[in-house]
Amino acid sequence: MALITVSGFPSSGKSKRAHQIKVHLESRLQDPSYSGPKLKVAIVSDDDLNIDRSVYGDGRLEKSARAALFTAMQRRMGQDTILIVDAMNYIKGFRYQMYCAAREIKVRVCTVYILATPDLCKEWNTSREDGMQYPSDILGNLLHRYEEPSSMVRWDSPLFTISWMDEDVPADNIWKAITEGTVKPPNAGT
Ligand code: ADP
Repeated sequence: MALITVSGFPSSGKSKRAHQIKVHLESRLQDPSYSGPKLKVAIVSDDDLNIDRSVYGDGRLEKSARAALFTAMQRRMGQDTILIVDAMNYIKGFRYQMYCAAREIKVRVCTVYILATPDLCKEWNTSREDGMQYPSDILGNLLHRYEEPSSMVRWDSPLFTISWMDEDVPADNIWKAITEGTVKPPNAGT
């Protein structure tokens, strides 16, 4: 029914925000006032696919990891699902490919850009307790390669940006974007 593409620097808080979004969407779906179709909210991530962070230091391994993510995303998208793709999704062309796959099966799309400074990402990467650290050389390299989403291109739009300082996610706007397809996010430009 919808595809929510999360994008952001390594260790910028993508998984944390993906879970916040999931919780919000589930509570709306369970609310007695909701009268739409029965939907489930699912997350697909590198961790679900056992993709080790070290693959991002090897072009060939990274390419096959990306292909695995794309396959999983295609398999799990559907009219009864709101699918959140929790991964860096840092290559413009890859986001375009996901957008095309979603539009092909007529699911709504939106992109959520998780914003944190490179220094914070490095700090959080070092102190993360889940054992999912990026090696520091790979992290530095990914920070350079990152291709920022833009609300000016259709495959990143509508685009919602969540800053590291935000307590919560813009759940109302995300909900409207995926259920009504009408919302114009505040960062959509003119
Ligand atoms: P990613 O999915 O981008 O790799 P995570 O959501 O797993 O990032 O978060 C990486 C680490 O950073 C975790 O230890 C998390 O607790 C911490 N973190 C994420 N966002 C914030 C934030 N806004 N403020 C403080 N710490 C954060």
